[in-house]
Amino acid sequence: MDARDILRRAGLEPTTHRVQVLDCLARAGRALTPQEILDALGPDCMNRVTLYRILDLFQERGLALRHNAGERAFRYCLGQGRTAQGHGHFHCTRCGRLDCLPPQILDLEALTRGLDLHVEHAEIHLDGVCPSCLKAGA
Ligand SMILES: [Zn+2]
Ligand SMILES: [Zn+2]
Repeated sequence: MDARDILRRAGLEPTTHRVQVLDCLARAGRALTPQEILDALGPDCMNRVTLYRILDLFQERGLALRHNAGERAFRYCLGQGRTAQGHGHFHCTRCGRLDCLPPQILDLEALTRGLDLHVEHAEIHLDGVCPSCLKAGA
């Protein structure tokens, strides 16, 4: 689905800035700090206040997930637009990067099989060392 359609389905006007931020998060495949998003979009694209406003809005509408990885800045990644079906994350304890894991890693059906539960939110968070830090430390 195209960024414009995703925004429209979330009830948001697909403005140029919103489309740019959504595309940037979709391309990343990991959670980005606002600074990383600004760097990726280029210095003249939008100011910090506009970006924060868009990220808040995305989070409110379930388009983006906000993470507190113990740093000063929050990190954001693309949400699924659904409540229960999220995706897991891998956090590198050396460089701080936060990778989004494929949704099948969080297999809610397998986790709750045989249990009479209605899950509304699930999260998997793995801590460890990412491939580039492993290489650097070898
Ligand atoms: Zn790392
Ligand atoms: Zn994510």
